[in-house]
Amino acid sequence: MASLFLPDYMFDKFSDITPEFLHSIGVKTVLVDIDNTLAPYEAPDPNMRVIKWFEDLRNAGIGAALMSNNDATRVRRFNQSLRLPAYFDCKKPSTKSYVDVLNRLKCDIADTCVIGDQIFTDVLVGKRLGLRAILVPPINDKKTFFFRFKRFLEKPFIAYFKRQQVRKQFLQ
Ligand SMILES: [Mg+2]
Repeated sequence: MASLFLPDYMFDKFSDITPEFLHSIGVKTVLVDIDNTLAPYEAPDPNMRVIKWFEDLRNAGIGAALMSNNDATRVRRFNQSLRLPAYFDCKKPSTKSYVDVLNRLKCDIADTCVIGDQIFTDVLVGKRLGLRAILVPPINDKKTFFFRFKRFLEKPFIAYFKRQQVRKQFLQ
């Protein structure tokens, strides 16, 4: 199984990824996708849970940036209250904006993690750079054929990840 497409961790939702967990795996910075990871496409602003989550991260000394394939209008509006370093039109899995943010925030590959809902963009861009990757299921997926097809292609990787998890539990 190509490890470029395998997340290191999976959570049911972004807010389950706690500062304690991130500390426990040695993560100091998270690079977070917006659409369907933090909010559905239709929500222009972050809800209280998103705001609180970033507050908790900040209080725990964990850095964060928003990394989106969506456009400037979407990303600026969403980031208005969060005031994080934020990148739009990232063209994930292109690594360009990620290299930029890593330099800007002076973070190490070893203690930086990507968080997103898509294997072929979020996980892949992280893995191309040697970062760790956390996958969450999409909040509210688009129902277009293209999206359904992408999800279909993701399935074997998610199944493989889950089998590995079961194996690890047995070995513990
Ligand atoms: Mg997304």
